[in-house]
This record gives sequence, structure tokens and C-alpha cells, in this order.
Amino acid sequence: MNQHRSKELYAKACNLLPGGVNSPVRAFQAVGGTPLFIARGEGAYLVDVDGNRLIDYVCSWGPLILGHAHQEVVEIASQVLRLGSSFGAPSPWEVDLAQLIVDALPSVEMVRMVNSGTEAVMSAVRLARAYTDRDLVVKFAGGYHGHSDGLIVQGGSGIATLGITTRPGIPQAIAETTLTLPYNDLEAVEQVFQDHGERIAAVIVEPIAGNMGVVPPRPGFLEGLRKLTREAGALLIFDEVITGFRVRYGGAQALYGVLPDLTCLGKIIGGGFPVGAFGGPREIMRLVAPLGPVYQAGTLSGNPVAMACGVTTLRILRDRNPYDRLEELGARLAEGLQEAAEEAGVPVTVNRVGSMLTLFFTEGPVENFDDANRSDRQRFSRFFWAMLERGVYIPPSQFEAWFVSLAHTEEEIDRTVDAAREALRQAG
Ligand SMILES: *Cc1c(COP(=O)(O)O)cnc(C)c1O
Repeated sequence: MNQHRSKELYAKACNLLPGGVNSPVRAFQAVGGTPLFIARGEGAYLVDVDGNRLIDYVCSWGPLILGHAHQEVVEIASQVLRLGSSFGAPSPWEVDLAQLIVDALPSVEMVRMVNSGTEAVMSAVRLARAYTDRDLVVKFAGGYHGHSDGLIVQGGSGIATLGITTRPGIPQAIAETTLTLPYNDLEAVEQVFQDHGERIAAVIVEPIAGNMGVVPPRPGFLEGLRKLTREAGALLIFDEVITGFRVRYGGAQALYGVLPDLTCLGKIIGGGFPVGAFGGPREIMRLVAPLGPVYQAGTLSGNPVAMACGVTTLRILRDRNPYDRLEELGARLAEGLQEAAEEAGVPVTVNRVGSMLTLFFTEGPVENFDDANRSDRQRFSRFFWAMLERGVYIPPSQFEAWFVSLAHTEEEIDRTVDAAREALRQAG
């Protein structure tokens, strides 16, 4: 594969940006080599600056459920942009997006728009602490909730990818307010409530983990969290930044029928633009400024272009209800990968919920971060490059989710499985 121009750009970028990137996993450190610089996206494809055309399963790390440069999203973005890029005052689109979110998520009566998932979670945790008048937050190892101080302890995503175990820059006092438990381990949660119940403000969880690779909740796990938090007077926060509008229109809470107190959103709701949101019942949300004293603000929050693209994306998802279709495509890919691995004699575990999946290079099962960590990362790296050589762009880390979009068709899926068949043989 010709990477001439990408390599040139990367060399320049490395002088100017730490690691040559603006978000760590993009640097390809876990798989070695040079990241591709992207010139454009077309539906299910990325085209890099050297002209390589690749089937894309990163999809901007989740937002692009409609695929790249979806016509309706591009049109609304240009239309709204012509009217101005930002007003610093309320505009109609943010009301529409809030209405769509409230209608979709049974647990949400009010939302606050922010600019990223990180902000959404950070603010939701502050709100939970204010509401309960308690300090401690329980999270799960390998869960990623953005890069705010208290939440990157034993985090997933880039923290897992880079194997970062220390926490320079984070005061001890803040780190101590986070209690980290193994995902899917309800007994550990029971124990922590026995030990610290009266001090726990919230349990925050990805209802389907997506940042240690995809790890679905065991049956009863989310129900158990709901019960334990309620009994202890703590809030349950679902971080649905990935799963919201991905696994169902109403997110993982609709899929599993477990309602959290607060929900964090991002990714899909921005239609490819920087957006996040957090929401919940009026009774809790009324604490948020200016209604209440929990301060949260943003110069570009509710940005009209981002809101309009979010509204357009959600309306398409609501009206076309494509979740059976995404399930079909996801299943076809997962089954194809599983068979290809068996043919090649490579032990793998494919975890999948709908259109999000991960191929782990371990026998499995993969039900928590320790299990995910047993994956053969060298084999993953070889597989990653072998796929890229065959025109398939998967996340450059074992600990990330692959995303199928509505722009993918059976043709792309089958070509991906063909590529995987060869790549697995080569990487084995
Ligand atoms: C991506 C992600 C975040 C952070 O969102 P950003 O927009 O990158 O700040 C938070 N939580 C989860 C579950 C995510 O996947």
C-alpha cells in the first residue's frame, strides 16, 4: 500500500502535535507504522491522501451511523451554515434536538447540550454529586467516560491501548473519589455498597461496554445495578455516548428495559459534529444552572450546525427504523469473521451487539477488562495491517469497537470477510 503522502504529513505533524495527532489512538501506536491521513469519506469508504480507498469500520469512532458525507446531512449543514455558524444565543434547532432525545429516551425529560461526550459525563457526575450530596463514584475497569480527572482511572479506549497505568496530573484526592470494579461483577458492586453505600453518589456504566472492545452486559447485570443504586440512594448513570441511537433508537436502555437516572449522549446525536448531552428527569435536571446551582456552560454549546445535523440524523433513524437492517449486517460480519478464524485455526472471540462488534484474539469468553487483556495484541497488529493491505480500515487497537453503518451493504461485508479470511491466515 502506498503511504507516501501520509508519511510526509505524519512527519510534519509529529513536529507540531504530540504524537502527530489530536486524539491518542489515531497515532497507530498499538499497531506500529504510520497513520493514514484522510482526504475524504464516501458512504462506507474512506479515501486517504495517497488515494487508497478503504472500507471503514471506524466511522469516526461511532458517530457516522449513516456513513460518510450522507447527502441529507451535508445539505442541512451547508444550509444552516449560510445563516451563520454560531450565535451564542438560543436557536430553533436545539429545541428540536432536545425534543427528539426526550421522545426517544424514556428516562429523559430534560437535556443539556454540550460539545463532547467528555463534557457530558463530567457534568452528569457533578450533577449526581450535587443531587445526592455525596462524593464517591463507582465505575468499571475498561470503561471509558471521557478524559476528565476522576474518570480516566483504569480507563478503556486509548488508556487501555497505550497501557497507561499511572495517572500523572490527577490529584490523589480526586482519584480517591473513584472506585473501580470489574465489569459484569455484581457481587463486587454489592460489596462496595456494603462498605461505602452512604458515600456513593453514582454508579456510571457503559450499558454495553464499547471501549475495552465490545463487551455486552451479562443478563441481570444492569438490572442489578438499578436495584443496588436505588436501595442505596445513589444515582445510576448510563454512559450511552456510543450506544445511544446505535443499538436501538432508544439506546441500550430501550434494548434492555433498564432505566437509568441520568443518561450521557454524544457521537451519533451530533451527526458527525462535536456534540454531547446529558439528561434525566426534571426533578434532577432542575439543579442545573440557571434553574439551579450546578454550574455548566459552553460558548459553542447548542451550535446550530451541529444541532441541525443531529436532528437530521435522528429523524432519519426514527423514520426509517433501520435497527433490524443494522442487526442483519452486523450478524453477517460477525459470523463471517468467526468462520474465517475457525478456517485459519486462530482462536478468537467475536463480541457483538447490533452494529457494534469486536474481534478479540483470545479464546474467551470476554466479559470484562481482564478477559479483553488476554488478547494476543501482536496477532491483532499483524491482522490490522493485513486488513489494511486488503482495503479494510478497522480501529487500530484491540480495545475498540468496529462500527457498521447504514452505508455498508452485503457487498462491503462480504469483501471484508474475504479479506479477513486471508488476513487471519497470514496473521496466524
Ligand atoms: C467516546 C466516548 C466518550 C467521550 O466522548 P468524546 O466526545 O470523545 O469526549 C465518553 N463515553 C463513551 C462511552 C465514549 O465512547
